[in-house]
Amino acid sequence: MQNNLKKIKDKEKNTSEQTVFSLIKKTFQQVYNKELPLDHLVFLYTAVAGILMSIFGLGYNMSQNIGIYTLPVLLLYLVTVISSVLYSIVKKRWHGAAVIVLGSSAFLLIPFLWFTLGGVTGSTPPIMFTAGICIAIVFKGALRSVMLALQAIMLVAFIALEFHFPDIIIPYTTRIEQFSDLAFGLTMSFLANTILIYTVVGQYVKARDEKTRLVHRLEYLSLTDALTGLYNRRFLSASIDEEMRRAYDTGSQLTLCILDIDHFKIINDTYGHDYGDEVLFNIAQIMNACLTEGELFGRYGGEEFVVLFPGQTPREALPKVRALADHIRTHGWTHGKPVTISGGLSSYVKGISYSDFIEAADKNLYCAKREGRDKIIYR
Ligand code: GH3
Ligand code: MG
Ligand code: MG
Repeated sequence: MQNNLKKIKDKEKNTSEQTVFSLIKKTFQQVYNKELPLDHLVFLYTAVAGILMSIFGLGYNMSQNIGIYTLPVLLLYLVTVISSVLYSIVKKRWHGAAVIVLGSSAFLLIPFLWFTLGGVTGSTPPIMFTAGICIAIVFKGALRSVMLALQAIMLVAFIALEFHFPDIIIPYTTRIEQFSDLAFGLTMSFLANTILIYTVVGQYVKARDEKTRLVHRLEYLSLTDALTGLYNRRFLSASIDEEMRRAYDTGSQLTLCILDIDHFKIINDTYGHDYGDEVLFNIAQIMNACLTEGELFGRYGGEEFVVLFPGQTPREALPKVRALADHIRTHGWTHGKPVTISGGLSSYVKGISYSDFIEAADKNLYCAKREGRDKIIYR
């Protein structure tokens, strides 16, 4: 019994360890693929930079014998940052952890490095600027202003303090030590800022591309018909309007054709609504195949289609519409019977109104229906 309990506990422990490990792995992948929001990414970069800097500081201070009292501060910082990052990854709540990591970087690690690594001429000031940029990216509102203001005050206060009390900093013992540390600090700051700028620019480009893609998608959705993929009534109405204006301005020809499936209700009632949809879809495919790019066409509503022939007379358009009707009739329809359409054409006359232009085509369509359907009429 005791053994079983232990096994279960071990198993639980194992799975939780595995989960932490897999969560860390997942976070790494998200960072690599830049799937996290900008501020979250910057928080993680800062944490990693802080961890590296404190490990480097620990090694440096021990090798240079700077003083045993320097170790607890770096160790405390290291433990704080590592546990905050782990907490943020496991609990998936990173904002509190970011306050702790950036707060302790800005107000614990930086002051400490400032006074133990050469003061104002050391490696810390450029790192402080980087920390300021990170704060500005990660935090918003009042917290950002307070943290940035405190950093600025700290910067001025440290310079003033060092100016008046030069002995409060631990000076470099050799020029080599000073310059190698300065090179380290400047390189770290350069690298961190480069990564930050690349990340910011990358996220900006990604957001802009996504926005463009969404605008195009919205545009497509608002102008096309979901069932057939053809242009919808909104697009067709605007096109008719635009082409009428062009014909008015240039005096060019313009022919409009309205098509309507014959006895479509019977097709729906006999073979089902889904089959009716299939017929509409197939007619759209036939239109795509038969009509050319210069002709504007789409689904005007229900089982009605519109074709606009800019620059063409009804005499020129008529054979094209009849050829289309032939293709639709002779298509290999699953139900084994022909599907026919009727159509009416109208020709643009200078000064005619939008509704008169449509009505003229509609009248001819009505004639085609009355005269037995399966006809395309222009009178
Ligand atoms: P007519 O030859 O006089 O045009 O007869 P019709 O049956 O085609 O005309 P009617 O206006 O009586 O019926 C049109 C039918 O089209 C009724 C409606 O249910 C059907 N319809 C409209 N939109 C769709 C659709 O998106 N899918 C399907 N399956 N049917 C549709
Ligand atoms: Mg109809
Ligand atoms: Mg019909």
